[in-house]
Amino acid sequence: MDEFSLIGAYFKRAISPSKTPQMDVGVGDDAALFRVADGHQCVVSSDLLIEGRHFFADVAPRALGHKSLAVNLSDLAAMGAQPLGFTLSIGLPRVDTEWLSEFSKGLFALADEFNCPLIGGDTTQSDTIVINITIFGQVPTGQAILRSGAQVGDDVWVTGTLGDAAYALNLMQNAPTHSDLAQVRARLEMPTPHVAFACALRSAGLAHSMLDVSDGLAGDLPHILRASNVSARIDCDALPQSSVLSQLPAAQAWQYAVAGGDDYELCLTASATSEVRAALFDLAQKFATPITRVGTITPMNQENQVIWHSERAPEVAQRLACSNGFNHFASH
Ligand code: ADP
Ligand code: MG
Repeated sequence: MDEFSLIGAYFKRAISPSKTPQMDVGVGDDAALFRVADGHQCVVSSDLLIEGRHFFADVAPRALGHKSLAVNLSDLAAMGAQPLGFTLSIGLPRVDTEWLSEFSKGLFALADEFNCPLIGGDTTQSDTIVINITIFGQVPTGQAILRSGAQVGDDVWVTGTLGDAAYALNLMQNAPTHSDLAQVRARLEMPTPHVAFACALRSAGLAHSMLDVSDGLAGDLPHILRASNVSARIDCDALPQSSVLSQLPAAQAWQYAVAGGDDYELCLTASATSEVRAALFDLAQKFATPITRVGTITPMNQENQVIWHSERAPEVAQRLACSNGFNHFASH
């Protein structure tokens, strides 16, 4: 099968003018064409996934297709942006039709769910599987939720639960027969991007700053803190945990939640007023996206950018200060 029949069979699909009216030209020409709505900015994000580094060679291809797009949708959500479309550049060692069919099913299922069509890409042979997705979206001009807007006194919030994906990864590597794996595996392989909730949050003007947590709270929260010139105090006892994680010893559960990765939950800061808190809980309920208040933004503290506090296990919380989150360039 040559490159063009491969693209035609697995990646070329008609664009629906009713569902995605801003898309003019998709796969098949030299480049794609789309329009950004008047009064909006174009939002672009790109992610690279490499076999052996970001996923196992034997991962279910349908889950991989889902996750490749999910991580990009999560980046748009973190800006409060609405998805428009994406490109897929893929390197494959060989043409495995079963693999391609499953991968594209996982990819298109999520693309359809978010009305975010595949509009182009590149296909080549490579030694291992390499996947790059670049996603395009739009946001009303000036309204994107940036990392730099956190204010002293803000509440710090996170959506969903933290640590499940890191726990799943640990079990897959060290205890693949453990009974907990079935309950957390989907959190690692099939993350759910919080796009609708994030867009509603943006249009309500409730958040001062936001990002998505892909490298653990200890890895990602400091991005907001540095960009905003502030520090934070986090209440570890408040960190939202799934029922599976809450059965682990606190030290272990917090380690997964704080230093783990791949959760794709949102972390945001907002005014600590009762009106804003109530409005956030209303939105969370409306979009079935649980949110939890986990801490406070404090004035910049050079020595301790994050204070990890706990009544329940104070020494364990203090040790989290040494956690850096997942570092892509750390030696393994
Ligand atoms: P070019 O030679 O100009 O790079 P290609 O032959 O690589 O074009 O691609 C032909 C068409 O197929 C283009 O519209 C391109 O965007 C699209 N395409 C190539 N690979 C993919 C892919 N993996 N997914 C979606 N579209 C693709
Ligand atoms: Mg090309």
